[in-house]
Amino acid sequence: MYLLEKAPAKINLSLDVLYKRPDGYHEVEMVMTTIDLADRIELIVLQENKIEIESDNRFVPNDERNLAYRAAQLIKDTYNINKGVKIYIDKQIPVAAGLAGGSSDAAAVLRGLNTLWNLQLSLDTLAELGAKIGSDVSFCVYGSTALSTGRGEKIKELPAPPACWVVLANPGIGVSTQTIYQQLKIDHIQHPDTEGMVDAIEQGDFQSICDKVGNVLEPVTLKLCPEVKQIKQQMVEAGADAVLMSGSGPTVFSLVSQESRAYRIYNSLRGFCEQVYVVRMLGGRTELD
Ligand code: ATP
Repeated sequence: MYLLEKAPAKINLSLDVLYKRPDGYHEVEMVMTTIDLADRIELIVLQENKIEIESDNRFVPNDERNLAYRAAQLIKDTYNINKGVKIYIDKQIPVAAGLAGGSSDAAAVLRGLNTLWNLQLSLDTLAELGAKIGSDVSFCVYGSTALSTGRGEKIKELPAPPACWVVLANPGIGVSTQTIYQQLKIDHIQHPDTEGMVDAIEQGDFQSICDKVGNVLEPVTLKLCPEVKQIKQQMVEAGADAVLMSGSGPTVFSLVSQESRAYRIYNSLRGFCEQVYVVRMLGGRTELD
């Protein structure tokens, strides 16, 4: 038995950190949306009771450090499955880039094994399982657009934002999410207007979405990776409607209402940046085309 599942990347339209909790996690408020840049996850059921991971990307671990492996292990342990699975990850999302590639792979494995092993679990149950693997996995189980709170695992689905182009640029440097959070000085944060962003999305107001983008991790990553500032400047000069770093970075994205301007930005960054993409936001749920 065999299944293909798409694992789309996310961008943060806003990311706020409220405080550090006694359990060590940060209490966050994030507005996230999935985009049509995706890893492809191939799942093959094995009669032997083992999990195998294979990927074409040398930065992706092929053992229990891989979030996709942990997702398969969790499903097997929770539902006493004695079969195995081979997981092939066709990596299209830049690694350690603030685009939740690993979390989305894990979510795709949860969705895929639910189908392959006929477990009939709801998306809510899969999202609860996902929270045990990582804070962004719950969001990735649902995909589309959502406000996530708590440590990222409490999800309130939002309508899809107005259609626009998203230009992504990654300077080719991996950034550790843990390091960025450790260096964040919570008392000196300029908080983004999360409520305003949610309103703007609910009203389908593209200009207001652009006005409200904000990410408290951006100044922290900027210190370690000055390329982020250069990319932002370049995108603004080439005509972006909004520019922001996603997650803990270093990927920077711009929102653009016109395709021609999106490609102007794309062309201005090629050569200067290792990985540049023009993509669309995804509206509905995340299934393979
Ligand atoms: P987030 O935005 O959720 O903080 P990220 O996009 O910054 O995540 P990932 O691409 O998920 O980061 O990778 C972070 C680290 O996780 C990598 O350095 C890698 O070693 C490890 N990792 C584990 N599983 C995966 C996976 N399936 N794909 C990519 N990296 C993975």
